[in-house]
Amino acid sequence: MAKYTGADCRLCRREGTKLFLKGDRCTSKKCAIDRRPTPPGIHGMGRRRRMSEYGLQLREKQKTKRYYGLVEKQFKNYYIKASRQKGVTGEIMLSMLERRLDNVVYRMGIGFSRAQARQIVNHGHITVNGKKVDIPSYQVNVGDVIAIKPARKEKFAHLKEYRPIIPKWLDFSTETLEGKVLALPAREDIDLNINEQLIVEHYSK
Ligand code: SF4
Repeated sequence: MAKYTGADCRLCRREGTKLFLKGDRCTSKKCAIDRRPTPPGIHGMGRRRRMSEYGLQLREKQKTKRYYGLVEKQFKNYYIKASRQKGVTGEIMLSMLERRLDNVVYRMGIGFSRAQARQIVNHGHITVNGKKVDIPSYQVNVGDVIAIKPARKEKFAHLKEYRPIIPKWLDFSTETLEGKVLALPAREDIDLNINEQLIVEHYSK
């Protein structure tokens, strides 16, 4: 699968916001955007020009794509699928992105970043309804039980000390290392600073 292999913090500086790509480091004093909040590159310190409408739409799309760690083709597919469904395209698209198994593993606090969560899924540590699922893009549904594979629970024993903030559409027990999808994520449950309408406008041109 294609993936971005450059410096993560550079992406945050480009988007001018924290994308939380590096786990604990993002909330520490080492966070690059707190230390150097300018765009990367030799022109980063220069005067910022007013962005065109197209520029605003493009940046919103890039930012969201980077939050979820996707490449363009993968990300656009979510827009295409969402635009074929009844309802508000931007909200459906965000809901589908949130329901990716790697994102759910991150939201439950099993992985400290979406990249780490994706690796956990790829390595076959996660089961959905008792069956191993190693596909990060797998879409979870209401009632699905997400758990750490019994044979791998020892490896995740450190989570017992951890108290993650879990969104209300999910549940996860750090004792049993098992969780459940309680509902589909509504827009207000997704705490990302995203204007999804700009993304829809970008793609629908
Ligand atoms: Fe972004 Fe995290 Fe790097 Fe800070 S530490 S710039 S939030 S990836």
